[in-house]
Amino acid sequence: MNNSKVRELVLRETGKTGVGVFVSREYRRGESVLTFEGPHLRPFEITDFTHTIQVGEDLFLGASGGVDDYVNHSCNPNCVLRGTPQGLELVAFRDIARGEELTFDYSTCLLVEPPLSTCLCGAPTCRGRVEAYFDLGRSLRRRYERLNAVPEFVRRYGVAHHPKPL
Ligand SMILES: [Zn+2]
Repeated sequence: MNNSKVRELVLRETGKTGVGVFVSREYRRGESVLTFEGPHLRPFEITDFTHTIQVGEDLFLGASGGVDDYVNHSCNPNCVLRGTPQGLELVAFRDIARGEELTFDYSTCLLVEPPLSTCLCGAPTCRGRVEAYFDLGRSLRRRYERLNAVPEFVRRYGVAHHPKPL
């Protein structure tokens, strides 16, 4: 799996969040859609405006320059992030129709709420902001746990800092 399958992934204006990634074919539940790539960055190397995905307690994946940089957050996503032997993948957790925008819930990999956290996803279930994972409600965290959508570093952080059962 690599992003050379880019012809199936189309960048398009979303009208609210800038550019997003849309699919030009159907994807089935469980299918890997793309692999996130980019340099590993430490906190001192990033600013509030650096495009990153948190991949460790003090480690971030920076921009790759490819389509994977444009996957938007949604409070009602169709994909989850999964660490796999191939890398950090975006996996469909339900069937995705042709023309849909790919999204995942950024909160699943955030230990700290980002400075620019206002959510513009427009979903009926929009939470209004993109919070840290442990600020999500318990039922939503359980849902993401069941979807295997919570990275190992977030789970480990939870055991260390949030000893209450999730
Ligand atoms: Zn939202």
